Amino acid sequence: MGAAISHEIRNPLTAAMGFVHLMKEPAISPKKRMEYLSIVKEELESAERVIQNYLTFSKPSLGYIEEIPVKTELLKVINILKPSANQNSVEITTNFAILGSIEGDRQKFHQCFLNVIKNSIESMPRGGHIYIYTHYTKTHIIIEIEDTGVGMSQEQIQRLGEPYYSTKGSKGTGLGMMVVFSIVKAMKGTIRVESEINQGTTFSFTFPTYNHSSKNERF
Ligand code: ADP
Ligand code: MG
Repeated sequence: MGAAISHEIRNPLTAAMGFVHLMKEPAISPKKRMEYLSIVKEELESAERVIQNYLTFSKPSLGYIEEIPVKTELLKVINILKPSANQNSVEITTNFAILGSIEGDRQKFHQCFLNVIKNSIESMPRGGHIYIYTHYTKTHIIIEIEDTGVGMSQEQIQRLGEPYYSTKGSKGTGLGMMVVFSIVKAMKGTIRVESEINQGTTFSFTFPTYNHSSKNERF
């Protein structure tokens, strides 16, 4: 990570650390404690945004290309998001095809589905469900992420992926979907979105199947 970036991350982390230190003091009032806590949270969010921006603008193309076993890798992403889902009363249900690999950069694959599932969680401020399915055909793998969240209007759907487009005010960066679109494109995939206001949203991703034995299968 570049020197400028680590500096930008270190600043908020140092600030957060300072306030954590202050909170160790047993004599401070509950009110002060809450105030410090919210500063810590803001600083950590700021650090997260820097990292997110960095990931967005660093490499538009894929890095290391390898076989990605879809089920295994999606489970890793879900595990990362479990605590935040629990905290928001969001239940995640999965139904995976056992087999199926695609080709691409594993880190980018994680980043992509992290962004999508994170948006789903954030679309359900009062809790709800996320269903994650995969199916595969001889040639393609389909990954579906469905939520029971606030949904999007036609105009919102159209603007998805536009840099800095966010309906989350200061809490959003509007960069998550832009990253998703660029990663999926680099992996030769396609995205379909269906959404209805107050009903929920379904994202369908289709990727070409990774086929290691393709050379032997031709006659
Ligand atoms: P951010 O999450 O920082 O707002 P994103 O690029 O990740 O930026 O998403 C852009 C916008 O797309 C969001 O602000 C939201 O309006 C909309 N959006 C994305 N995913 C969903 C979803 N699952 N349900 C409802 N709205 C969504
Ligand atoms: Mg987002």
